[in-house]
Amino acid sequence: MAKGSGKYRPVSGMQLPRYSGICTFMRLPYLPAEQAEDLDIALLGLPWDGGTTTRTGARHGPRQIREMSTLLRSVHPTSGINPYSLLNCADVGDAPTNPVDPVRTMRMLEDFVAGLVARGAAPLSFGGDHLVSLPVLRALKPKQPLAMVHFDAHSDMYDYYYEDAKFTHGTPFRRAVEEGLIDPKKTIQIGIRGTYFATNEHEWCMQQGIRQVGMDELRDEGPDAIAAKVRATVGRTPAYLTFDIDALDPSFAPGTGVPEIAGVSTYEAQRILRGLRALDFVGGDFVELCPPIDPTGNSALVAANLGFEILCLLAESVAARKSGR
Ligand code: MN
Ligand code: MN
Repeated sequence: MAKGSGKYRPVSGMQLPRYSGICTFMRLPYLPAEQAEDLDIALLGLPWDGGTTTRTGARHGPRQIREMSTLLRSVHPTSGINPYSLLNCADVGDAPTNPVDPVRTMRMLEDFVAGLVARGAAPLSFGGDHLVSLPVLRALKPKQPLAMVHFDAHSDMYDYYYEDAKFTHGTPFRRAVEEGLIDPKKTIQIGIRGTYFATNEHEWCMQQGIRQVGMDELRDEGPDAIAAKVRATVGRTPAYLTFDIDALDPSFAPGTGVPEIAGVSTYEAQRILRGLRALDFVGGDFVELCPPIDPTGNSALVAANLGFEILCLLAESVAARKSGR
């Protein structure tokens, strides 16, 4: 069984207006990470952008997502799920980082998330640039490589940047494949587009059996067909869900470092995610929101809403696993 249900509830907007109070993810209580043994799902911030190759600022993402997430309510509009009555969820704060020491920070992020995992809490993290997904995957220590559902304009499967830089936000999943953390044949990437530096990284993905869904396929076939392909690719393998906000068209979410035109709409993203309820997710993240590029908060609002979709998927998976289904 799940550890609990309803112990930690968001502050209701019917009791305290949503613009007031202290900002946490989804208006949940803050619980120190050391107390995560009480949690089924830990929401956390990974405020680090040391892997960013172009426009920096994703380190500010978690705080702005917390702010805009105060606009959310508790019940999912189509599934009727209230993740907070299903399971114990809380905001465990941000992982510690050292903004001038990437090597040390990679360890700090991994250690923080590993502490949550050891206490039996599934992580839902908010970045940060996309390199933060690598220490999270390491912290999950999967016995078998995980399946991965990856929304992104970019494959993030480059071998290196700048001659020999192996750890950037363009390389995390190449490392994850090499380290046996994810199974390339059970990895599907949605929203891939934009110009390449060269074709070798794309060719490597194809050789590995990674499934890439570009915008023509998405628009021609529609989000339900893509969700079916995701389900077919992943099957019953425990899966990680990672969402780079630049999968979305920049008109929906301009606040990101490496935007690419002609992308996924917020509706399409929502609809694909809503088609993934049958999968077995063990963790997820939402990354690459860059608040300095969109101080209006609209991109962060998008991040918060899609973060809620991911939370509901994760909550159903965790609840099903704990009840032995
Ligand atoms: Mn990415
Ligand atoms: Mn990207």
